[in-house]
Amino acid sequence: MAHGHYDIVIAGGGLGGATLGRALATQGIRTLVIEREVVFKDRVRGEGMHPWGVTEACALGIDGLLRDSGAHEVRWWKRYLGPVPRDCRDLPETTPAHSGCLDFHHPTMQRKLLDAAEAAGAVVRRGTAVVGVEPGNAPVVQLRSGHGTERVSARLVVGAEGRRSMVRRSAGFILRQDPARLVVAGVLHEGLGAPDDAVHYFQNPSCGQGALIFPLGSQRFRSYFVSGVEQRRCPISGSEHIGEFVDACVQTGAPRDWYAGATLAGPLAAYPGADSWVDHPYRDGVVLIGDAAAASDPSWGCGLSLTLRDVRVLRDCLLGTDDWDAAAHAYAEQHDTYYGALHRVEDWLTRLLYETGPIADARRAHVLPHLAKEPARAPDISGLGPDTPSDEAARRRFFAEDIDLVTR
Ligand SMILES: Cc1cc2nc3c(=O)[nH]c(=O)nc-3n(C[C@H](O)[C@H](O)[C@H](O)COP(=O)(O)OP(=O)(O)OC[C@H]3O[C@@H](n4cnc5c(N)ncnc54)[C@H](O)[C@@H]3O)c2cc1C
Repeated sequence: MAHGHYDIVIAGGGLGGATLGRALATQGIRTLVIEREVVFKDRVRGEGMHPWGVTEACALGIDGLLRDSGAHEVRWWKRYLGPVPRDCRDLPETTPAHSGCLDFHHPTMQRKLLDAAEAAGAVVRRGTAVVGVEPGNAPVVQLRSGHGTERVSARLVVGAEGRRSMVRRSAGFILRQDPARLVVAGVLHEGLGAPDDAVHYFQNPSCGQGALIFPLGSQRFRSYFVSGVEQRRCPISGSEHIGEFVDACVQTGAPRDWYAGATLAGPLAAYPGADSWVDHPYRDGVVLIGDAAAASDPSWGCGLSLTLRDVRVLRDCLLGTDDWDAAAHAYAEQHDTYYGALHRVEDWLTRLLYETGPIADARRAHVLPHLAKEPARAPDISGLGPDTPSDEAARRRFFAEDIDLVTR
C-alpha cells in the first residue's frame, strides 16, 4: 500500500527532472521530485549548451534562471585543425536561436532549477533515493532515505535520474548501447589563458583526438579531451594525471602557454563516449527523459539540449490531454524520431573526425576540402541539433558522395 499519491513522481532532480517538475507544478499538477543528493558537487557533466538547447530553455522559461545563476553566453565557436585556426562561427548571427553557446557550472545550475521547481509548488525530497518502481495503471515508486523506506503512487512516474537510471532498470526497459568508440576526459580549470568569448575546438583527426574548452565566465573553463578507445589503452582519470591530460590537449593542438597559470578546480574524470538509449521510452505508467531515455555521446555536447527537448515535448503532450497514457506514448514516438536523427548525424561526425587508419585518412582527404568550400554540407548540430537534415541525401552530401557521382 502506497503512503502518498501525486499526479507525477519524478525520479532525479538534475536538469531534466527539475525543469519538468517546475514546468508541471506551475500548471497546478501535483508533482513530487526525488533527488538523491543534498548538496550538488562537480561530477564532470555537461556545461556547454548549444544554441538549439537555448531555444528549448526559452520555450520552458528557464533561460532567465540559467543566466541569473551565472550562465555565460559565448558568441564564437572556433575550430582548429591541430594548432591552426580553421574557422570561427558567429553563433548569434547564424543560428535560429540567435544565441551563443550558454555555458554554466553544472552544480550551480542544478541547485537553481531544483529551488525553482520547489518555488513553483513541486514537493522536492532531497537526500532520498528511488530504489524501485512497480509499473502499472497506478505505478508505485519505492524510496529510501535516512528515515527508512517508503512507497508513493502516481498517475505517471518519470525516470530522470541519468545514464544509470534505476527506474529504467526496475521498469524492465531494454537498454541499447553502441560499441565503445570514444572516451571523454574532463576537468574544471581556473585561470586558463584561453580567450573567453569562444568555445575552442581543436580537432586532430589523423591521430583520432579532439580537445574542447568551454569558458564558464569568471576565469573558469571546462576542458575536455576526446580520443578513440584504441588510441589510449587507459582513459585519463584522477587528478594526479592532470599533466598527462594537458599534454594530450597540447598534442591535439591547444597552445601550451594557455595552461601555464591554470589550476584545478574539480576532479579529472573520464567517461565512455558511446550512446546508450531505450527505444520508445514509455511503458505501463513509466516514462523516461534525459540521459535515462538516451545518453548521447558527450563528445558532441548535445545531452543538455536533448534533455530539454524531452522536457518540452513531454510537458506539451501531458498538458494537451487528460489521457496521460496516450500523451506519454506520443512523447515516446517523437523521442524516437528526434533522438534517432541526432544519433545518426553524430555517428557521421565521429566517423569523419575520430576514425584513424588509411581508409579514414582517404575519406578525410576527399571530404574535408568540400566541407571547407561548402560548410553547409555538414550537419548543424549547434544551431539545429536533431532538426538538421539527416536523411540519406544529407548523408551523401556530408561524405561528398554526390561529388563522386558528378565527376565519375
Ligand atoms: C563527461 C561529460 C561531458 C558532457 N558534456 C556535455 C556538454 O558539453 N554539453 C551537453 O549538452 N551535454 C554534455 N554532457 C551530457 C549532460 O551532462 C547530460 O546529458 C545531462 O546532464 C543529462 O541530464 P539529466 O537530468 O537527464 O541527468 P543527470 O544530469 O545525470 O541528473 C540526474 C539526477 O538524478 C539524481 N539521481 C540519480 N540516481 C538517483 C536515484 N536512484 N534516486 C534519486 N535521484 C537520483 C542524480 O543525483 C542527479 O541529480 C556531458 C556528459 C558527460 C558525462
